[in-house]
Parts: sequence; structure tokens; C-alpha cells
Amino acid sequence: MDAKKTCDILIIGAGVVGTSIAYSLIPYEKEVLILEKNNDVAMGATRANSAIMHAGYDPRPGTLMARLNVEGNRLCEELCRKLSVPFSRCGSLVLAFSDTEKALLSDLLDRGIRNGVPDLRILDQEELREMEPGVSEEAVAALYAPSAGIINPWELCLAQAEVFVSNGGRIFFHSEVTKIEENEPEAPYRYTVTTGNDAYSTNTIIFACGTHADEVHALISEPDFQIVPTRGEYYLLDKSEGNKVSHVVFQCPNEKGKGVLVAPTVHGNLICGPTSEVLSEDIDDTSTTSGKLSEIKEKATRSVRDISWRDNVRNFSGIRANSTSDDFIIREIPGRKGIFEAAGIKSPGLASSPAIGPYMVELLKESGVDLPPKENTYTLTRKKIHFRDLSNEERAELVRKDPSYGRIVCRCEGVTEGEIRDALLSPIPPVSLDAVKRRAGTGMGRCQGGFCGPRIVEMLIENGKNIAVPCGSTPLPPAHLSIEQDADGSYLFVPRDAEKEVGS
Ligand SMILES: Cc1cc2nc3c(=O)[nH]c(=O)nc-3n(C[C@H](O)[C@H](O)[C@H](O)COP(=O)(O)OP(=O)(O)OC[C@H]3O[C@@H](n4cnc5c(N)ncnc54)[C@H](O)[C@@H]3O)c2cc1C
Repeated sequence: MDAKKTCDILIIGAGVVGTSIAYSLIPYEKEVLILEKNNDVAMGATRANSAIMHAGYDPRPGTLMARLNVEGNRLCEELCRKLSVPFSRCGSLVLAFSDTEKALLSDLLDRGIRNGVPDLRILDQEELREMEPGVSEEAVAALYAPSAGIINPWELCLAQAEVFVSNGGRIFFHSEVTKIEENEPEAPYRYTVTTGNDAYSTNTIIFACGTHADEVHALISEPDFQIVPTRGEYYLLDKSEGNKVSHVVFQCPNEKGKGVLVAPTVHGNLICGPTSEVLSEDIDDTSTTSGKLSEIKEKATRSVRDISWRDNVRNFSGIRANSTSDDFIIREIPGRKGIFEAAGIKSPGLASSPAIGPYMVELLKESGVDLPPKENTYTLTRKKIHFRDLSNEERAELVRKDPSYGRIVCRCEGVTEGEIRDALLSPIPPVSLDAVKRRAGTGMGRCQGGFCGPRIVEMLIENGKNIAVPCGSTPLPPAHLSIEQDADGSYLFVPRDAEKEVGS
């Protein structure tokens, strides 16, 4: 297949890591392109995780993970401010229930200090209960990390991707990379990357493929690591439970991970989980199971007693890209000049992501990739209206200027028609109900889209977008759309002969 498209740098994977790299490359005079196999950004681990900006006391001192976690946490607040991404530095507590666990807290404190985590300290039982009255009386001490926070993870990914596209970057969806070939030395570009539909020529490739990191690495050489996909299931509880705790409440970590946490979310809900289960067959299987959900109830109740499990609004799971390495693997691949990878980006990958992009840029420079500064102006910021976060005066002013902000479509979350329209017209237009949910926050409340779903489908069709709606509620497509069924059973309404590309 002849390469139809060319670029200077090609990123594979549009999760929070791939988009952090793309965002960090905006200031340079380079044509950058992302290939993503799904129909949107943030469709892997980035959309289903605990959403914690970890402080950084957990990774082993001296590792890249320790360094990038602490640095990512430090950069996060300013980044979220620039990109209108919800973030709260609410702090975290690791509970100890015995003297043995108290000793573990001292180890974590020591590690944290060596990693450079600011203001860590151990609380006795009295101070703990004063700070977090909701925790169980059996907790005898806690490690307090004031720099830990909570974030909207898919919004961070989306915001970076939107700003990348607004600056002329391109993303191709439905583009699973299946082949990478090195061209003859006289060819204008060193590599050809092939997807199902197309071929792309480039000199520099960056892998950011999450749980598929080892498979994609195997397209060019035998990987020296393996991904160990590990599923984590969750309970999400209604906002009525959202103030049960005001910090992220962890239990002591063990060999399986950071254990079950209880935490507020930036949307005001309560999240409990995750479990830890290695997947040996379908590594993309994000089911939830009654056994694992019961395990969460039992473990979370040990930390916070009176959680009302009846107020459960959703269960979900995400798959960690754990690997056979105990560190992130971020490097130029040995023997493959110009091919870089960010692999094994397990937790705290989200918290580290604001630092992973800049770190990758440094690696490119060190390897001799020419990165001249952009001559034209560019922007690294994004403004987004979150109607429900405005004051009454600001709301009144906005509605006066544009009455669509006065019409509530999602009653549970108070999302207005104006915000949904903004999402539909955004730089990376949504192609499914779920994608509108990630952009506008619709359907996240108690009714889970039961009331607003049909109106949003209408708005998607009015806008002539490709849309996906859940099985069983398929409206007929207008003449310019055809119907396809997605792997997860959703119907996709695809514009006939559409270029599935976003960007210039
Ligand atoms: C249960 C759970 C809890 C977690 N909790 C936290 C937490 O609280 N804090 C924290 O810091 N971290 C947490 N993490 C880790 C964090 O979510 C991840 O480290 C981060 O999201 C990884 O981002 P990524 O971009 O590397 O991967 P992903 O988000 O998985 O993105 C990879 C992308 O690559 C695409 N792709 C793969 N193969 C191909 C191909 N061949 N062609 C084209 N595209 C391809 C995929 O479709 C996907 O979109 C958690 C993870 C899980 C699963």
C-alpha cells in the first residue's frame, strides 16, 4: 500500500499519555499526527480509573515512576487551570489498622520524603478523626499527603487533544496500527505505518498504547517486557454519598497494588474500588462481576462504615497496563532509531502524565530529533463553560447573551442545551452518546441518561454527526448517514463516505 499521508512525528494511542505528548509538542514546528483505533480519545485506561493525582510516596525511590509522579502532581494544578479541567487538591490519607500497618506508614513516609513529596506527615488517631470524621474507629493512624488530589481524567485527555487539534494537529480515529516497516535508505521517510485503511510515512514514531504496548512493540522487534493486564472494578455512588469523606482514603498498599480506596470525585460522587484481577484471555474485557463488587463493599466498609450501597449509580471497570517491569518504560527502542515508547504506564500513570509529555520531548531532543520552536503563535489554553459551577450572576449574564444556556437538558447534572451544543461543535466532535457524556457531563447522574438521552440523540442527528447510541434505542438515520455496529454493540451512524479524521 502506498503511504498516502506523511508527518514528522506519529503518535500511536490517544489516551492521557499520547495526548500529553502531543500537547507538549505544540510549541515546536513539527507536523504531528495521532492514530487511535477507537472512535474517540480516552477510550482505554484513561476513561476508567480512580482519578487520583497521587502524591508520589508509593513508587520505589530512584525510579522514573517516582520522579514523574511527583513532577506530574506538581504540574497538574496549573495545567488544569489552563485547560479548564476540574481538579481539587483535597489530600489523601493512608489508614493503618494495626501496629504492623503503622510501621508500613513509616516506610511510606520515608519513601515519600526520598521521592520529594511535600508536607507528608503521620496523624495519630485523634487528629485523623478530627480531619476525617467519616473513617472507621478501628483506624489507629494515617499517613497524610496534602498534595494528593482528584481530577476528571478523561477531560484532561480530551482538553490536551482539543488544544492539539486547535493548533493544527491531526487525529485519525478507527485507525488501528497493524504494521510498521522500515523503508529503503533513499526513501524520503524512514518508516511506513499501516492501519486497516491507510498508510502513513514518518521519521519518528511514539508508542502510547496502554495495555497493547507489548503487541505494538512486537510489530518492530521482540519486546523485552510483557503487559500484565489487570482489571479493577468500581462502585460509583450518588452525590448524596459524595460528602462521606473529604480526602482520598486509602488502605495500606500490598503486593497487588494500592488496595481499595474511598474517595470523593470532582463531580461530587463517591467512588469505591478498585479490585485487582489479572486477565488472561480477553484483555479488553471491562465487565463487572458480582464477586468483585462484593469484595469492594467489604473492603471499603472497613475504612468508612456507613456507606449507603443502595445509592449506587453505576459500576464500571478499567484495565491497568501493569507490566513485568516495576518501572515505567519510556525510551527510544534499542536498535530502532526514531521509534520511542511509553509502555507499562500503570498507576500512577494519570498523575505522572503531565510530566510524561515533557519528558518524552526531552528524549526526542537527546536522540537528535530536530525540534525548532514554532514561528507562528500557538495556544496552550482552553476555555470551557461548566454552567453549574458559575455564580447566579454569571449564569444570568450568560443566559441573557445566549438563551440556550437557560434550557436544562440533563436534569440530574444540570447540563444545559448550550453546553451540549458547545460539545457538538468542539474541535473533536463527539460521535456517540457516551462521547457527549464525557464532554458535557450529561447522563452521569441518578437516571444515567434515561431522560436526556433521546434529546441528545436528536441534537446529534440535527448536527449531522456520526453517532452511536446504545442497542435497543436506535432511531432511524437521516439519508446522509448509514448504520454500522460497533464492537461493543452500539450502533454507529456514520456519514456516507466520511473521512474519519479530526483536525486540519
Ligand atoms: C483500575 C485503574 C485505576 C487506576 N487509578 C489511577 C489513579 O487513581 N491515578 C493514576 O495516576 N493512575 C491510575 N491508573 C493508571 C492510569 O489510568 C493509566 O496509567 C493511564 O490512563 C494510561 O494512559 P495511556 O495513555 O498510557 O493508556 P490508555 O488510556 O489505555 O490509552 C492507550 C490508547 O492506545 C490505543 N491503542 C492501543 N493499541 C493501538 C493500536 N495498535 N493502534 C492505534 N491505537 C492503539 C488504545 O485504543 C487507547 O486509546 C489506573 C488505571 C486503572 C485501570
